[in-house]
Amino acid sequence: MEKRKRLAFDLDETLGTAIVDSQKVVGFNTRRDIFTLLDQLSNCYELILWTVSNRVYLDKVLAYGMAKYFEETYSWDEISEKWKDIRKIRADFLVDDSDYHREIATQYGLESNYIIVPAYGSLEDQRKPLLWIDIIKDSLACNEKINSQLH
Ligand SMILES: [Mg+2]
Repeated sequence: MEKRKRLAFDLDETLGTAIVDSQKVVGFNTRRDIFTLLDQLSNCYELILWTVSNRVYLDKVLAYGMAKYFEETYSWDEISEKWKDIRKIRADFLVDDSDYHREIATQYGLESNYIIVPAYGSLEDQRKPLLWIDIIKDSLACNEKINSQLH
């Protein structure tokens, strides 16, 4: 069997946002159709979660239903760096709502491995709640196509 590619996801504003009540995390609002998407993607990719928040927060959020989709998870406790260098976790792609990571990645010619989606709850997202899924699928499909032409 061919080795599955590694697809990393950012957490906050990429997969959803935490529900906070008097400074305590009491839930996580996930994006629409997220579980269907993660289910589909996990057939072809090793899914990884990478947040710059701390481990306590990450574990709390994972407990609200997303834990089973991710084979590896990374928080600030393991990688205390603001820029997410996908090489660090041997990921092939990173999906993130912040283009900060892609901008720095251009210095290394890695920008096409960074998939930027509209932030959850942003105007663009409110107008088209499923746009983020289209962007991910299109980017991955495009990449597969290029790869198959190369080999
Ligand atoms: Mg984010």
